[in-house]
Amino acid sequence: MTRAVGIDLGTTYSVAAIIENGRARVVKNAEGENLTPSVVAVTAQGHMLVGSVAKCQSSVSPERTVMSIKRHMGTDHRVSLNGRDYSPQEISAFILRKMKRDVETYTGESMKKAVITVPAYFNDAQRQATKEAALMAGIEVVRIINEPTAASLAYGLDREHIQTILVWDLGGGTFDVSILELGDGVFHVKAVSGNTRLGGDDWDERLVEYFADTFLDKIGLDIRSDPVTLQRLREASEKAKRELSYKPGARISLPFIKTGNGMPKNLEASIDRSTFEDITSDLREKLLGPTRQAMADSKLTAEELDRVVLVGGSTRMPSVRDLVEETFHKKPFIRINPDEVVGIGAAVQAGVLMGEIDGVVLVDVTPLSLGIETEGGLFARIISRNATIPTSASQIFTNAEDDQTVMDFHILQGEREMAIDNISLGQFQLTDIPSLPRGKAHVEVMFQIDVNGIVKVSAEELYTETKTGIRIDASHLLSEEEVEQVIREAEAHAEEDRSRRGEAEINIRADSMIRAAELFLEEKEGKLSSASKHRIEQCMLDLKEALSQGESAVIEERTEALRKMLEEL
Ligand code: ADP
Ligand code: MG
Repeated sequence: MTRAVGIDLGTTYSVAAIIENGRARVVKNAEGENLTPSVVAVTAQGHMLVGSVAKCQSSVSPERTVMSIKRHMGTDHRVSLNGRDYSPQEISAFILRKMKRDVETYTGESMKKAVITVPAYFNDAQRQATKEAALMAGIEVVRIINEPTAASLAYGLDREHIQTILVWDLGGGTFDVSILELGDGVFHVKAVSGNTRLGGDDWDERLVEYFADTFLDKIGLDIRSDPVTLQRLREASEKAKRELSYKPGARISLPFIKTGNGMPKNLEASIDRSTFEDITSDLREKLLGPTRQAMADSKLTAEELDRVVLVGGSTRMPSVRDLVEETFHKKPFIRINPDEVVGIGAAVQAGVLMGEIDGVVLVDVTPLSLGIETEGGLFARIISRNATIPTSASQIFTNAEDDQTVMDFHILQGEREMAIDNISLGQFQLTDIPSLPRGKAHVEVMFQIDVNGIVKVSAEELYTETKTGIRIDASHLLSEEEVEQVIREAEAHAEEDRSRRGEAEINIRADSMIRAAELFLEEKEGKLSSASKHRIEQCMLDLKEALSQGESAVIEERTEALRKMLEEL
């Protein structure tokens, strides 16, 4: 039997999904990611690279990298790589070949057929070119389906008695609004609108400008003038943007940037969510025109829409979601990861066509974030809310004290910033950690959730490979109302949580500065003038006193004073 596979061949990211035991799931690629960047590059030696590796080299050799090829599908556009011309189909085939290989590695079977998605507005030539690309990659296309249809299938909307669905898709470089009508079990496209030059990249670019201006003010150097540095800033900005979707603030750090006088510098800057929302408000405004247009074309009012489905990674931005809610006066569907929902829907369609699915397809997600308590009582998220299960993720932690041979792990779920405000799921201990100075041990904490929602958490000290863990069964999972309650509370306390996290982080920085100073004094024992030694000790005392009094502004000021002094000496 041939397995049902669905592929979302996106402008910026592509996704492959399969049906396994009657459930749709995303297949991780060889790099362990759910999303594969739709990027192709060629090395100086003539080797083809696809996905994250290709994206990485784009900063060093943009002339040998191809991005966003989907924009040219169905045209006679050609790209030149290492002296050879390629059609858009050929470039897309490189991406599809990698997706095929990764699916085969995961399933252990050869992959022959797939359902592939395209935007609803794609014309015949563009659809034909997509088929050709698949053929070149050795994939037989069982059906080409529209992306908004796939998203609706992932939510099982074809099985509900509903009439009209609006799919709102904001991806990396494009924005599409589609209105679908369900009749006789088939989705008909009633209206499409959008902007093919508006997407997450524009939000990234705003952050790039903001940070570049900040550095210009700070060090008097415009880093936009150096293409490699600019690309590094672009990557850091995209990361900061993603963080701002679930945190009130983000920091970027660019180590070793060359400055005017030839001295390398570490550039650091931060931004909070409200500033980010301010500098991108006109971009949100631009989303309204096509939305109104699609509504007008369909001759429907907001009240007549039965469902609004959010698609595309950029709809993770809270301000974008709010805009949708304000516009349509209803809560949009976003339970399935918006950047995976089209791929999942393609797999569902493949499953139906290949007779693998008869009942309802289940797409399960983690209702709340899972993580552990870390230094200062902070909550470290390891698996974010709404990840499709089964899933796994890990993070490396280190010892907070010198010679710490035992580490306690407290597992929690919830959306609050401080561990104490979240729901405790269990605790365990890792013993026999080798005796090491603070910050030197490497302990990997791994979370795994299986198809039944059973959570396994393990911790492993990477050098000695000592390992232990805990299993938390599904009985701890909450009802839908309880989950909603948790999320409402997190939203209500967002401001207060943010300042508490800020305070905890200030204390952690102060603590580590004191330790750094102690180490410094130890190392320089006998080499420092007694005056310098005395100055450092006084600074340390001042900082410790501030810590005991708990005034964040004073702690921060004195941490900085101590840091400056250590740097000078
Ligand atoms: P495509 O345009 O290929 O369909 P996606 O739907 O995967 O791609 O969207 C990619 C965009 O989503 C990128 O601009 C990426 O930065 C953005 N994105 C992904 N995660 C987040 C997030 N947490 N917050 C904000 N933007 C995000
Ligand atoms: Mg997409």
